[in-house]
Amino acid sequence: RCIHKFSLILEWYPGTGEYDKFFSEGIYGCAGCGTPLYKSSTKFNSGCGWPAFYEGFPGAIKRTADPDGRRIEITCAACEGHLGHVFKGEGFNTPTDERHCVNSISLKFVPAS
Ligand SMILES: [Zn+2]
Repeated sequence: RCIHKFSLILEWYPGTGEYDKFFSEGIYGCAGCGTPLYKSSTKFNSGCGWPAFYEGFPGAIKRTADPDGRRIEITCAACEGHLGHVFKGEGFNTPTDERHCVNSISLKFVPAS
C-alpha cells in the first residue's frame, strides 16, 4: 500500500526532500518562495506516504478544481507553485476532515527556534 516506505530511511533528514513521518516543531514553507504554508502542529500521519496537513495558513494556499472535478489542486498563493491536492471527508480524526496531500519537494521546513 505504501510504496514510499522504503525510501524513508535514506531521506529522513530535512532538506533531502522527504518530510513524511517527520514531526519536529516548526513551519513548512513554500520551497519556491519561502511563504509559510503549514504549521507542524497541523501535520498528521495519513499513512499514505506523503506529508499530510489538515489546515494551512489562512490565505497562503490557493485551491483550484481539477478539470475532472474530482480533485482540488493546491498551489502556493504567492508564487503559484504546485503543492499537491486536498481531499475532504475521508474520515481522518482531524479538526477539518481535510487532508492536504503535499509533495515533499514543494516544502521547505523551518525548525522552531
Ligand atoms: Zn510559493
